[in-house]
Amino acid sequence: MRVAVLRERRAAETRVAATPETVKKLIGMGCTVAVEAGAGLSSGIPDAQYAEAGAEVAADPAAALAGAGIVLAVRAPEAAEQALIPRGAILIGTLQADKDAASAYASAGIDACAMELAPRITRAQSMDVLSSQANLAGYRAVVEAAGAFDKAFPMLMTAAGTISAANVFVMGAGVAGLQAIATARRLGGRVSATDVRPAAKEEIKSLGASFVGYEDEESKAAQTAGGYAKQLSANFYAEQAKVVAAHIAKQDIVICTALVQGRKAPTLVTEAMVASMKPGSVIVDIAADAGGNVAVTQPGQETLTANGVKVLGFTNWPGRIPAAASALYARNLLTFLTTFWDKEAKKPAMPAEDDIVKGVTLTRGGAVVHPSLA
Ligand code: NAD
Repeated sequence: MRVAVLRERRAAETRVAATPETVKKLIGMGCTVAVEAGAGLSSGIPDAQYAEAGAEVAADPAAALAGAGIVLAVRAPEAAEQALIPRGAILIGTLQADKDAASAYASAGIDACAMELAPRITRAQSMDVLSSQANLAGYRAVVEAAGAFDKAFPMLMTAAGTISAANVFVMGAGVAGLQAIATARRLGGRVSATDVRPAAKEEIKSLGASFVGYEDEESKAAQTAGGYAKQLSANFYAEQAKVVAAHIAKQDIVICTALVQGRKAPTLVTEAMVASMKPGSVIVDIAADAGGNVAVTQPGQETLTANGVKVLGFTNWPGRIPAAASALYARNLLTFLTTFWDKEAKKPAMPAEDDIVKGVTLTRGGAVVHPSLA
């Protein structure tokens, strides 16, 4: 079974879907691996390291994809590369496919697996690309906030006087938010956080942060069976905004991570809230990829508001820490393959009725099979 790893071509994508470590393991499973030249460069992995691990370094996508039975990707390959994927090959990545994209995979005979759709169950944890990447995004958001902040995170007592600790507010305490809380605490910030899911309150407190939020009967049922936040009523958001507005005016750093699956990110920080903050404060909007939690976020950019607040609205936060993100992402894909691997036949064996397989499979045998796209 030949595995192809392409150089990512989507804008600002710095990650790669296999590392020398996972290449060695794939070869150990009986695969041959072709890595397109330059695929790992943005993650600090030169071609020579892939070659040392046993991969063939292919000059271009056509050479990498010729005869491939498995294609590993971070994001969906662009049309030109997709056209080179052999019929019957399995494509594994974060494909973010809509109905048209899924139909295109089906008509090209590509069995597409969208790893971002894996169920959030214990058995799938080690192949959960959303978690591995969100974890790093949460860490990186705080580190970049600290870099953009012109004061200090920890309280510093010096002979010249004392600098007070920064007030850090984390909005959304899922995987990214919890890591942001932990990182901000390690840096010495005075950390508070909010979320709508009832379970999040205890998790916030267990990390040593204080909980700030609005709770009512509606928020007691704010979590879907899959563990995600539900879209809540306009009344709930209005009440939440009142609590947040009073708190935000006293914050130095705000880290926004709130998402509602399948929807635009909720706007939690209004223009008026931003205007209430002190000059020099920093807002990081990790939700910028999904439209942002902050009314003034410009996705992909850092902006400075009229009252001197920096808003970091960069997209692809895991891609801002590419070596670590690639290492974890590549392991997630490897775990997916090893979990569904026929050791005798040395090829994937993906039972259609398995919950994880069912969750990620978009197309199979030329047909769109995912319930959300069929
Ligand atoms: P996510 O990225 O979808 O959302 C981030 C956070 O934003 C969530 O905590 C959500 O509740 C919060 N949010 C949404 N609207 C909000 C609002 N108006 N105000 C404040 N916060 C708001 O979430 P995620 O990080 O992917 O985590 C989703 C869930 O999955 C969590 O419960 C997490 O613990 C769970 N999970 C489980 C596993 C597992 O294997 N069991 C693995 C990973 C995650």
